[in-house]
Amino acid sequence: FVPVITLDGPGGSGKGTVSRLLAERLGWSFLDSGALYRLVALGALRRGMALDDVAGVSGLARHLDVCFELDEAGAPAVRLDGDRVGGELRTEACGDAASKVAAIPEVRQALLDRQRDFRSAPGLVADGRDMGTVVFPDAPLKVFLTADTEERARRRYLQLKEQGLNANLPALIEELAERDRRDAERAVAPLRPAEDAIEVNSTHMSIDAVLNEILALAAQ
Ligand code: C5P
Repeated sequence: FVPVITLDGPGGSGKGTVSRLLAERLGWSFLDSGALYRLVALGALRRGMALDDVAGVSGLARHLDVCFELDEAGAPAVRLDGDRVGGELRTEACGDAASKVAAIPEVRQALLDRQRDFRSAPGLVADGRDMGTVVFPDAPLKVFLTADTEERARRRYLQLKEQGLNANLPALIEELAERDRRDAERAVAPLRPAEDAIEVNSTHMSIDAVLNEILALAAQ
């Protein structure tokens, strides 16, 4: 039995950073499931496909040619159709497009096994929206990480600035709220805590504090 820690929650809750650090600390594998949805969206946009073209986008999801690797500096990197994907994967436009393709049940189904394949010894930290509810329902530790919308937008803003990307705080607040609504209201795998998830509100917590709280839960 390979243990999984799931970290679900809305964008900007800190789960991306926390789950990466957590995986590093534990020496476990890491799944950034949002990146898969972002890559499907990016692949569709690059092919000039409409994001609501169910047959086209789900076909793309089934045959997605993606490779997660480390770049020359040892930082996580992604290849789509053989080419390195840069900062465009992390833009809010890509996140928005991802949440549109993520509402298509066939796309979610196509990505299911690919996500489960990340489970390998000694363990997996899985970051997403439905890790605890759908993909790894048997995970022994499920965390649902939240934070107020303004604080999440502020974190996204700093993250984008750090990457040298354009960012506008009021627009980010709007976009995050819109994306949360779409993720929470979709018919399949809507964003919500698993029944056995532990909720952590990170609004007033540092990354370190969140990390330590989860490590303490994992040690129980
Ligand atoms: O976490 P991230 O911002 O990269 O996710 C982008 C979008 O992908 C989310 O807004 C959500 O719609 C979708 N997603 C999902 N299920 C996951 C991970 C991400 O539906 N497990």
